[in-house]
Amino acid sequence: MPGTHEEERLTLSSFLPQGTVIRSLLRSMKEGTCVHAYLISGSEGYGKRTLGRLMAQFFLCEREENRPCGVCAACQQVRSGTHPDLLLVRPGRKISSDEETETGKHAITVTTIREVIERVSTHAYEGRGKVVLIQDAEQMNPQAQNALLKTLEEPPADTYFLLLTQSPGQLLPTVVSRCRPLALHAWNDTVITRVLQKQGVDAQRLKRILYLSEGSVGKAIQLADDEDYWKQRERVRDGFLGIESRSDGFALAASLREKRTEALQSLDLLEDMLRMLAFVHFGRLDASLIDDYPMAWKRMAQEGNDRDFLHLLDAVSEARNALQRQVNLQAVLERLLLRMMEEKVKW
Ligand SMILES: [Zn+2]
Repeated sequence: MPGTHEEERLTLSSFLPQGTVIRSLLRSMKEGTCVHAYLISGSEGYGKRTLGRLMAQFFLCEREENRPCGVCAACQQVRSGTHPDLLLVRPGRKISSDEETETGKHAITVTTIREVIERVSTHAYEGRGKVVLIQDAEQMNPQAQNALLKTLEEPPADTYFLLLTQSPGQLLPTVVSRCRPLALHAWNDTVITRVLQKQGVDAQRLKRILYLSEGSVGKAIQLADDEDYWKQRERVRDGFLGIESRSDGFALAASLREKRTEALQSLDLLEDMLRMLAFVHFGRLDASLIDDYPMAWKRMAQEGNDRDFLHLLDAVSEARNALQRQVNLQAVLERLLLRMMEEKVKW
C-alpha cells in the first residue's frame, strides 16, 4: 500500500492551522505524553490518513529527537506500508496487505482484530514499539469493536492505536471514550494555497482547484497532479462549450456513443464548469475562473438571465439521469448538446 501524494506534501506542522487539537498533539509528542489510542475523524480528503501515517512515523522513527525525520529507514517503511511494527487494518483486506479476506468485503471482522491483538502482544521487531492503524474504523462490526475494547482498556506497552473514521458516530461509545479525539475539519483556502504553491501549481489552476476541492486538502493535491483531469476538462470545454453547429453536436455525441464512462465523466465536468459559470454570473466567483471559456459563455455570464443558468444545469442533470437509466446514450447527448447550442447562439 504505497503512500499517497498527500503524504509526500504534508508534514505534521502543515496540520497546525487545524487548531488546538493539533497543537496539543505536537506538544504531547514533544513532551513524551502521547496516549495509547487516538481517534482521527473528518470528511474525505481532510488528511486523516496522512496524519495517521505521520503519527506512525513519529512513533517508529529511528531518531531520538525531532521525530519524525521522514528520511530514516523506519520513516520510509511507514510511508510505503512495509514497516514490520506497523499493522495496517482496512475493511476487507488482510493486515498490512492488499490481499482480500474471504469474509465481509466491507467489514473489519473480529478475526482480524483478534489477529491484531495477538500480534501486538508479541515483542516489537525494531524495538520502538508498535502502531496499529485502522482505516475506516466504523467498518468494525460490534463484535470486532468489543474485542478491540479490551485491548484499548489495557494496551500493551509502547503500542499505539490510531483509529481513522469519517463517521465516529458509528463506533461504540465505549470505544470512542477510550481514544483521544483528533477531529479534522475543512482546510481554509489560504492553507491549501500555500501547499499548492509549494507544489508549483500555476495561479489559474490553483483558483479552480480551490473552488473544486471545498476544503479537502487531499482532493486539492490530487487534482493538482491529475493531468488527465485537466486534459479531459479541456476536451469538455472545446467539445461541449465550444459547440458551433448541429453537426458538431451530432459528431461529438456519436464519438461518445460507445463510451458510457467517459460520457458520464464529461457530464460531471460539464456540470462543474457550468456551475462555475453560474457562480460568476451570480457574483459569487471571480470572472477570471472562466477566462478560458468561449466568448459567448463569458458574455452570458455577464448579461444572461438567472433562469437560463438553472435550466442549463437541469439539462445536464437530466442527461445524467437518463444515462444512468441506460437510455440511448447518443440520443441523450445530442439533446443536451443541441440545448447548449440554442443557449450559446443567443450570445
Ligand atoms: Zn525517521
